[in-house]
Amino acid sequence: MERNCVWDDLLAQKRVADFLKHAATTGTVAHAYLFVGPTGAGKKTAARALACSLFCDDGGCGVCSICHRIRNGKHPDVHVFRPAGAATYMVEQVREVIHDVHLKPVQASHKVYIFEEADRFNAGSANAFLKTLEEPPDDVIIVLLTRSFDAVIPTIASRCQIVRFRPVPESMAIGVLIERSGATQDEARIALAASDGVISRALDFLESPVRRKTRDATVELLKRLPLMDGHDVLLGARTVLSEAKAPVEMLKAAQAEELAERKELFGKGISTKPIEDRHKRELTAREREGVTEVLSVAESWLRDCLVMSGCAPELVANADDADAIEEVAAIITPRAAVSAVEAVARARRRISYNVSPQLAVEAMLFDIQEVLRCPR
Ligand SMILES: [Zn+2]
Repeated sequence: MERNCVWDDLLAQKRVADFLKHAATTGTVAHAYLFVGPTGAGKKTAARALACSLFCDDGGCGVCSICHRIRNGKHPDVHVFRPAGAATYMVEQVREVIHDVHLKPVQASHKVYIFEEADRFNAGSANAFLKTLEEPPDDVIIVLLTRSFDAVIPTIASRCQIVRFRPVPESMAIGVLIERSGATQDEARIALAASDGVISRALDFLESPVRRKTRDATVELLKRLPLMDGHDVLLGARTVLSEAKAPVEMLKAAQAEELAERKELFGKGISTKPIEDRHKRELTAREREGVTEVLSVAESWLRDCLVMSGCAPELVANADDADAIEEVAAIITPRAAVSAVEAVARARRRISYNVSPQLAVEAMLFDIQEVLRCPR
């Protein structure tokens, strides 16, 4: 398959792609969208594709430097936000955005503001945002992303055009990974499992030795868990989390390089605050991704034990570890396996409420250990 435009990235969302493309080419883009769909459906990719189609001279060719910068999160007129507070967007964060919204674009004709987890506005931050959401300046497009429409505050949802995304079937995602990376079926499955089903992150996983190392360390830890004492478990948690941080260090190095390049191009006097702000957001997001990945790997491995015990080995995601999974599956009851999977969900929740990842992962490992030691 030849990829010649940004919309080609939107697998399984042909209707969404056609709809947004049409809006972009006919000048009927709405001032605010709410993209609704499961993780991995391509919501952020679609938001970026929309920006590409508006900024790029070829309507989103996917190969020019403008498209390239947008897709790599490096365009000064495309901003991506996540909740800055414990689990919610804060009023101050929204006020900062509103201030920025009223500034002229830096390079493009428009500015695009993407908000991840739009269900995480609380009453205060939603209120602060409503007027801007309803009537942003003409050159501003706001795109809110959410997994659940019902979780979004109605006053926010009602001010947006709703766009629904379907889940991408796993077989389709695996097909894309194999085609684009040359990975085997098993490798593609492992990559998807470690990336919460998000294709772009799975592609990155396949090219990233450090991420693969973290995944292997997490699986290794789970396998040894029943035999470990308390001290080993704490140490294990620390080790995988520090492995998970390796991509953050690499990002830091790349950011320092970008900043130095900027200064060389534009002189030392140039304001670097917008870049530094973006870097800070990127670092937080990458750090979060690393932790999430440890949880995703643990979850998929435990789910594998569950499906294997239910005699559906073809559904196992971590095929390279089938022997160990089979051993656990032979002794674990479905109920015990489910409670181990739930321990991972609890850790996710705790981290989303700003419990330290170290504490959340430790508690999760102790819970899983208990299940694996006494799997009935
Ligand atoms: Zn382009």
